Amino acid sequence: MRKVYCQKCRKQIESRKELYTMQIFFSIGAFCGSCYIEKIKSVSSLVVSNTPLNGRYANFLTLMTLVGLIMVYFAEVAYIKIPLIVVLSLVLLMRAYSFIRFERHLPRKRI
Ligand SMILES: [Zn+2]
Repeated sequence: MRKVYCQKCRKQIESRKELYTMQIFFSIGAFCGSCYIEKIKSVSSLVVSNTPLNGRYANFLTLMTLVGLIMVYFAEVAYIKIPLIVVLSLVLLMRAYSFIRFERHLPRKRI
């Protein structure tokens, strides 16, 4: 397992509960709880999404995105079909990246 450190204070993040991944422009960063909150306050929500990429709520959103993607795929919406598929796929890719890059290295709970 690889170690995951907070991008801001360099503290080691020991469990998924302490991990908050965040999308900043086109990159994804890992933060501890307190730095995440600080970061949210300091940066415009236009640049940074307010919900962390990991966690239960994010998993729910990922599921909804997946359902949306399947629905768009079969829907009769010729004009917006391709852009919608691209956008929804990007959301899923970001989620997957956050998982592969950070989450899978951490235990669910602190050992
Ligand atoms: Zn930190």
